[in-house]
Amino acid sequence: MMKPRVNLVCTECGYAFPADSGRTTCERCGGILEYIWDEEYLKSVEFSGELRFWRYKPVLPPVKKQVSLGEGGTPLQEAHRLADSLGLRNLYLKDETRNPTNSFKDRSASLIVSDASGKGFGSLVCATNGNHGASVAAYSAKVDISCHLIVPKAMDIAKLAQMMVYNAEIVESGETIEEAMGRAKTLEKEMGWYQATTELNPLSVEGLKTITYEIAEQKGNPMWVVVAMGSGVTISSLWKGFKELRSIGKIKALPHLIGVQAEGCSPIVSAFNTGKDEPVQLAKGETEAAAIRVSKPVFGELALRSLKESGGFATSISDEDMLSAGREIAKLEGIFAEPASAATVACLRHLVESGKIDRGDRITCLITSSGLKTDDILQSLTKRKRSLGLGSMLTTKEKIMRHIAGGSTYGYEIWKAIGKGMTIGAVYQHIADLEERGLVSSNVKGKRRYYEITDRGMRVLAAMDALQVLL
Ligand SMILES: [Zn+2]
Repeated sequence: MMKPRVNLVCTECGYAFPADSGRTTCERCGGILEYIWDEEYLKSVEFSGELRFWRYKPVLPPVKKQVSLGEGGTPLQEAHRLADSLGLRNLYLKDETRNPTNSFKDRSASLIVSDASGKGFGSLVCATNGNHGASVAAYSAKVDISCHLIVPKAMDIAKLAQMMVYNAEIVESGETIEEAMGRAKTLEKEMGWYQATTELNPLSVEGLKTITYEIAEQKGNPMWVVVAMGSGVTISSLWKGFKELRSIGKIKALPHLIGVQAEGCSPIVSAFNTGKDEPVQLAKGETEAAAIRVSKPVFGELALRSLKESGGFATSISDEDMLSAGREIAKLEGIFAEPASAATVACLRHLVESGKIDRGDRITCLITSSGLKTDDILQSLTKRKRSLGLGSMLTTKEKIMRHIAGGSTYGYEIWKAIGKGMTIGAVYQHIADLEERGLVSSNVKGKRRYYEITDRGMRVLAAMDALQVLL
């Protein structure tokens, strides 16, 4: 294998900078920079070691230190039951939920934090609307880098909780990810912090492209690869990866890409379908899928270029279809995908029925992140509670539990405190139910039976508190 030969090249004006210049954008035109590997070098590349992210070190820009939590090497699952339900024969799911923080962004975060750490930075800044921030926070924690995350107001609460657990400093700035990015640029300059924002650090693309290297080594080349699009960085990264794989000689033919967006936020799809080279300008994006709620996609032009070069197409789907596809994937394949990831499956039925793809085609959908990280899970739980008609019952039981948690007490006292409009018998029935479930316990002292909250009961109350904060 030759020594790595790579340059940092502007995707707009083509100007080349040295790979180790640490630039985040082109200083001549402000364009996005990308690492371009020398063709001869790529032909000499060999990979060794187990199927993990760092196996692909020869095609990653050199870093002085490796910060790893065991990312990459995620399974490419054949989805038989889901395929049957869609009338397909060769459907695969690249399950990126299996990464350390349950999203594909662990690949770019591992590389970015490695770079920051190797260069001796003590602080980094990162604008994020979810997965990337949670991921960067985790890797920063591992090497004691102080992680400053700039987030927009509308965010998945579970991702915010994840960032907090990893001890990141979180600052809310603006309504959208675009505004948060502006703030991150300012802080990079003013504070001298390392810039870790996906769209502002060309290492992101290099990290994310390793998904294609794994797909090629796992099951050979798919005919179609389906990807959800927010900023457009994921689909651009995959396309770069596939082209490199062809240069290396690992694959013969390039796949076609299918890019999916939510109907309420589809600036790239609208541009593609009207033959434009730049994303359509949206004032605001409306979708439940926070991960792809991006109205001004920074990588929009590159995403459009990737779609066109690959001979693929772009499509949008409703939030409703996205959420129901998420439940289908979980029920039929045991993979809990976030709504943005489920979009890749949601679009398939229509594409098969309209004849755009053939039933026998080999299709790979990219499942970028876990559904546990989104608010959808909480919403579906509360909906179920309502649909079973348990709402008011739960409220009474909760009141009783809270009263008992306030200190040992007996039936009559509980009824006086909370049982207005109920018979004492109904209150005793609730208490008996709670006792049967191990949430309260009782013992007889003198003539009275006293009730106390159990440890389990305390945990249930704590969980209810947590849910109420979230809802
Ligand atoms: Zn330029």
